[in-house]
Amino acid sequence: MGCMRIVVLAGGIGGARFLLGVRAHAKTIGAEVTAIVNVGDDVWMHGLRICPDLDSVMYTLGDGIDPDRQWGRKNESWNVKEELAAYGAEPTWFGLGDRDIATHLVRSTMLAAGEPLSAITARLCQRWQPGITVLPASDDRVETHVVIQDRAIHFQEWWVRHKAELPAKRFVFLGADSAKPAAGVLDALNAADVVLFAPSNPVVSIAPILAIPGIKEAFKAPVVGVSPIIGGAAVRGMAEKCLSAIGVECSAAGVGGLYAPMLKAWLVDPVDAQAEVPGVNVVPTPLWMTDEAATVGMVQAALRSAE
Ligand code: GDP
Ligand code: CA
Repeated sequence: MGCMRIVVLAGGIGGARFLLGVRAHAKTIGAEVTAIVNVGDDVWMHGLRICPDLDSVMYTLGDGIDPDRQWGRKNESWNVKEELAAYGAEPTWFGLGDRDIATHLVRSTMLAAGEPLSAITARLCQRWQPGITVLPASDDRVETHVVIQDRAIHFQEWWVRHKAELPAKRFVFLGADSAKPAAGVLDALNAADVVLFAPSNPVVSIAPILAIPGIKEAFKAPVVGVSPIIGGAAVRGMAEKCLSAIGVECSAAGVGGLYAPMLKAWLVDPVDAQAEVPGVNVVPTPLWMTDEAATVGMVQAALRSAE
C-alpha cells in the first residue's frame, strides 16, 4: 500500500491553523495532504483578484502570515492603501497591504492571460512551499453574496465593511450551480483515505465548497469533521451571525447536524461531550488550536475515528 492520503476541506484562518497540525502529523507518518480551499470569499477590488482563504492558507503554511492580525503578510506596509484613499478610490474599507498586493498582481495577471486559478495557486505556492497541495475548490467563479433586506451584497462587504452587523436573510453562492471542481479536486477525493472538514466557518467556508456539484458525490473515504464551535460560541470570528441567518443553532450539535449525512465521526470539545448528532459518532477531544502540538492531537483523534 502507498502512503496515506489526507484531504482537508478548509476556509481561511481556522482552516489554515488546522492545516499546520495536519502537515506536522502527516510528516511524522509519511502522509500526503491536499487542501481543498473555499473560493466563495474571492473578490475583485481595484482591478485585482483577491482570494482571502487561499492566501490565508498559503501565507500561514509558508510562514508569511502576520501573527497578530492572522491575515495578510507580516512586515506589511500600507502605502498603496493610503494612496488609493487619497484618490477617494472605493472601496476604502478593505485591507490591502503593499506586500499582499504583489500576490494579487501575479494572480490577476495570470488570470488575464487565461490561466485557471488552480494553476495560478500552484505557481504562487512555488514561492511559499506550503508542504501540501493547495487547490481552490473551483476554477470557476463561485461568490458568496449575502441577502440583506431587499438586496444582496458581496460577502466581503457584509463581513469586513459591516462587520456582520446587518441582519443576513440568507447566503447565495453565485455561480456554484454551474461551477466545476477545480483541476485536481476530484482526483484528490477519489484517491483519499480520509476526508477531514477543518474547524472552518460552516456557512461561508465549508458550505460553498460543498455547493459545487460533484464534490460531495466524490466522498468515498470516511469523512470526519471538526467542530468550529466550542461551548456554544465560535472560538474566534463571527460564525454565530452566519449560523443564525440560516436558522442553525450555534452549537457543536447544530453544526454537526448540518454535516450529518456526510460524516462518519464528529469531533467536539470535551465541554460539548453531551452533543448528539443522529447517525454520527461524536468524539470528544480538546479542540483549542492553541499551538501546533494541540492541533496535531486533534488530527490524530480525527484519523483514529476514521478507522
Ligand atoms: P476564515 O475563512 O478566515 O473566516 O476562517 P475559517 O472559516 O477557516 O475559520 C473560522 C472559524 O474557525 C471560526 O468560525 C471559528 O469558529 C473557528 N476556529 C478558530 N480557532 C479555532 C480553534 O482554536 N478551535 C476550533 N475548534 N475552532 C476554531
Ligand atoms: Ca473566509
